[in-house]
Amino acid sequence: MTDLPEEVRDRLAERLWPFAVEQTQAADRGRTVKWLFRAPDGAAIEAVLMGYRRRTTLCISSQAGCAMGCTFCATGQFGFERHLNAGEIVAQVAYAAAHLAAHPIPGSPDRPTNVVFMGMGEPLANYEQVREAIRLMIEEMGMSGRSITVSTVGVLPGILRLADEPWPVRLALSLHAADDELRSRLVPLNRRYPIEDLVAAAAHFRERRGRRVSLEWTLIDGVNDDADQARGLAAIARDLRAHVNVIALNPTPLSPDRPPPGERVRRFVAWVEAAGANVTLRDTRGRDIDAACGQLRARAAGGQDGAESRPAAPSK
Ligand code: SAH
Ligand code: SF4
Repeated sequence: MTDLPEEVRDRLAERLWPFAVEQTQAADRGRTVKWLFRAPDGAAIEAVLMGYRRRTTLCISSQAGCAMGCTFCATGQFGFERHLNAGEIVAQVAYAAAHLAAHPIPGSPDRPTNVVFMGMGEPLANYEQVREAIRLMIEEMGMSGRSITVSTVGVLPGILRLADEPWPVRLALSLHAADDELRSRLVPLNRRYPIEDLVAAAAHFRERRGRRVSLEWTLIDGVNDDADQARGLAAIARDLRAHVNVIALNPTPLSPDRPPPGERVRRFVAWVEAAGANVTLRDTRGRDIDAACGQLRARAAGGQDGAESRPAAPSK
């Protein structure tokens, strides 16, 4: 639309584009980019783009804040603000796609090949809008269902509904503890939907969709990093034929929790493997730009960073 006067273009962009880009940060020598978007009502959300050799993964938000209150999560610590609508969810993908087309990450695909709902919010607590966003990504933006991962802390009815949808999306279950006593301390929702029921729902998803489920495990020093937890996790993963992803905790402002030292992280992974489960240690991308769930927003709210205002629309 370069034939339109710039002022008209800007006004159009503001109307069509739901966010201002409040901060852009890069890390890992440009292979990780994180955005803080702000909606006109003040709600702030984050998306993180990570370039790898064969894929470019975009981590998106489904809510501003989160009501689930997981103790180790920055988003949970700041509470729930509001649901995002489907347009706001896919706008993150559209923005990242436009950014990548203009600034490709060398050696990585120049479009988002994978989308994971692992930013702020609990996607299955915002089911209708997340469902519509997935539909748009697949039917309008040409993505494959297999390249979209819905990560849930365990909203059981949502897992069952997702199993009945027509698209082959992937499911990640954030487990973090192998017994209900510990899990209920870390993840309050566990009191409503305990481990056994969640594992049954995940098994149903796997059978119905024919897709392996993954189990996410945020490793916290002295909390869920012992041999018993590793064995318990491996037993659940074996039963479910699930793949385990371990990630060392990214420290958050309101919790004293810390990641275990490197050798204890590797020891935990080795225990899980020795007990017969498939396990991968996820790299902690973007540690120096607070690229964990909700941390950039937490910082902007605390006024520690001079928030810089940027134009409202992606540069095309
Ligand atoms: N609400 C969903 C999706 C968003 S959180 C869920 O909980 O699955 C995405 C992932 O980030 C989850 O696996 C969550 O446990 C993890 N996570 C949250 N806070 C973290 C932190 N401080 N360090 C590392 N991983 C964290
Ligand atoms: Fe919400 Fe997921 Fe953070 Fe828990 S880990 S508070 S469910 S965003």
